[in-house]
Amino acid sequence: MGLSKNEYDLLKQLVNNLDDNQKLDIANLLNTKKQKTKITKNEISKIYKSITTTKECPHCHSKHIIKCGKSSNKQKYYCKECNTYFIPTENTLLFNTKKDISVWATYMNCMLDKKSIRECAKICNISLKTSFNWRHKILDVLSNMMNDVKLNGIVESDETYTAISYKGNHKKSKTFIMPREPHKRGGDIHIRGLSKEQVCIFCSLNLNNLSYGKVSNLGKPNWKSIYNIIKDNIEKGSIFVTDDFSGYDKISDKLNLDHIAIKRGKHTNGTFNIQKMNNYHSQLKLFINGIFKGVSTKYLNNYIVYHNFVNISKSDKNKKTLDLQEYIFKTNCKDLIKGNMRPAIPA
Ligand SMILES: [Zn+2]
Repeated sequence: MGLSKNEYDLLKQLVNNLDDNQKLDIANLLNTKKQKTKITKNEISKIYKSITTTKECPHCHSKHIIKCGKSSNKQKYYCKECNTYFIPTENTLLFNTKKDISVWATYMNCMLDKKSIRECAKICNISLKTSFNWRHKILDVLSNMMNDVKLNGIVESDETYTAISYKGNHKKSKTFIMPREPHKRGGDIHIRGLSKEQVCIFCSLNLNNLSYGKVSNLGKPNWKSIYNIIKDNIEKGSIFVTDDFSGYDKISDKLNLDHIAIKRGKHTNGTFNIQKMNNYHSQLKLFINGIFKGVSTKYLNNYIVYHNFVNISKSDKNKKTLDLQEYIFKTNCKDLIKGNMRPAIPA
């Protein structure tokens, strides 16, 4: 049952008149409806095969390895170079997990579909707590992949702000003390503008949709906080397109970038603009506040990585699914999982 030709034309006209945020909203609506989440047995056996076979030793990276029996149904290997026994999932997220790989794979599919922690828990038949922990374990590991991003070509960069959120930091917690009184409905007066209650997020994006972003500080940024975010993730000689905040000059000098500043009140400088970046920011905010109904400041960095992976990166969903499985199931994550070791707010 579709629309008549007239109705369809009318709908197209209406869609054309939407603003960017509304367009994204509709796009997300269409996306989540058509995707499947459950994975087939065939897919599972492929994943299983790929992660239980290995070509090198996880300890010394030698290729001189031989299969040697199974331990609790997992293929064991022996490395002739460093004389160690190992199983390929050692130190990955699958090591010591009580759940089957298929549950993890389904969970990651749910994440690609931007399902809430609660929905993921229901679909995967795991507890809310496990669902929450898995989400951040997966994102902690994925952050590591994002840390390798090297932006090149024309790179648009800008800051955006979001209010500090202590969501999920329980009132009764013994270790967490609210730095201010919780908001009372209506009564509170807050400092307008860029107060220290605003979290500054600095993001960059190139024309190929490679992106990188992180929380930089509270309130207005200085050049150093931005420099520290971007310094390892942009190639020398890139064209760095920003607004006219003076700190960007210094950063461009230090990193050997060709700086193009868009003057206040202008939208372009020659053929350059930061329109793509502005769209990125609206999309990020929709992701955080619309789809996930607000994210605790503590977990913002993880959600930026999540956003970059599902919304910004250009590859199609199948490719993303495979990339995510490959990366999550094979990465040594021993030192990557942050657990409770993350500050409630940026320093
Ligand atoms: Zn070895």
